[in-house]
Amino acid sequence: MSITVAKFGGTSLADANQIRKVQNILKADAKRRYVVPSAPGKRTPSDQKITDLLYLCHTHVQQSVPFDDVFQIIAQRYLEIVRDLGLQMDIRPHLEEVKRNIAAGASADYAASRGEYLNGLILAELLGWDFVDAAEVIFFDEHGIFDSEKTQAVMSERLSKHSHAVIPGFYGALPGGEIKTFSRGGSDITGAIVARGVGADLYENWTDVSGFLMADPRIVPNPKTIQQLTYRELRELSYMGASVLHEESIFPVREAGIPVRIKNTNAPEDPGTLIVRDLEPAPKTGAITGIAGRKDFTVIAIEKALMNIELGFGRKLLSILEVNNISFEHIPSGIDTMSLVIADAQLKGKLDRVLDEIRRELKPDSIEVHPNMALIATVGRGMAYTPGIASKLFTALAKENINVRMINQGSSEINIIVGVETEDFERSVRAIYAAFVD
Ligand code: ASP
Repeated sequence: MSITVAKFGGTSLADANQIRKVQNILKADAKRRYVVPSAPGKRTPSDQKITDLLYLCHTHVQQSVPFDDVFQIIAQRYLEIVRDLGLQMDIRPHLEEVKRNIAAGASADYAASRGEYLNGLILAELLGWDFVDAAEVIFFDEHGIFDSEKTQAVMSERLSKHSHAVIPGFYGALPGGEIKTFSRGGSDITGAIVARGVGADLYENWTDVSGFLMADPRIVPNPKTIQQLTYRELRELSYMGASVLHEESIFPVREAGIPVRIKNTNAPEDPGTLIVRDLEPAPKTGAITGIAGRKDFTVIAIEKALMNIELGFGRKLLSILEVNNISFEHIPSGIDTMSLVIADAQLKGKLDRVLDEIRRELKPDSIEVHPNMALIATVGRGMAYTPGIASKLFTALAKENINVRMINQGSSEINIIVGVETEDFERSVRAIYAAFVD
């Protein structure tokens, strides 16, 4: 029988009412046999996330400040959840153990991971499913790097013994058994690892939105939901700023070719967004999948006569960046020009030194710095090999009187990136959306 792994985010498990919804969702489909919970998240926009409070407890201990009050808020949340769900279990000994360990100087990772751990215990009790501690099935090596091989071997063996199980998200264990977490939002990664571990047919990621939107709703009013996209399109969009799913969570399922469906716990009948393998045939419709973008880039434009025949120019330029520990986004070039497009965060405090080194080592005729650039990616595999796409995009921008400072089309033709002035960013996104979607 086919298997679905369902991961639920913090808002889906924020209180007993939400957890009941999760229970109903799991009951509604017998294929949902493995569940990965986050820690309780915010119940209202001004509420606190349990994970944040746990980190706070740890910081208090580090500063030798009493943390009883903060811990009391955490304990209260769990006690309320257990009570409101009408469960017989006693969560107090678990809370006391966590408190004792934090007081005794346990690591920040240990403290933070307990949010998922405790929530997992409660969910397992409610569902009557087995609890499998993530520390027993997810492993990191001695450098703290996720050990995919060991995890895959141990997890698939272990979970084959449980027809239904709850595996808390966000953490695993180091070789010595100490707890190690993924980066923030990392329960998405756990869900993907479990999906691969059990050879799932589908990884459902339940959150509080009905899928990915085609554009940022703060810029485009009521953008449409993306019904289906490939892993690669998702990667392009999330790299350029769109967020719903933790970036690293794509890789385990992508490797195994397991589709991911983003679903809304508060509107389970909504179809959500399906992320499919890159191999799916592209519909050559000219339609786009989504638009994403980021601000705060700087362009360093370098000009030198006969640059095109100067052997090693590009290598020397890029090694200046490497030596200064700067990664770049794009390098548009012409016959005698080469530009570096770099995120401002990368250049911070280093710009003058980089310019000096370029002048000294490459002796350019001119070098100019243009700050305040924004990049916008228009992504869609339906655009590939379809004539007229670029013209539509640039016409839309021209009609709005927007000056395009840079153009870059990825070799896969699923992405056209344009650079515009930061002040034109929002207008540009709206213009592109209107041209392709409305
Ligand atoms: N609870 C963790 C966090 O807040 C992990 C997660 O929710 O995915 O980052």
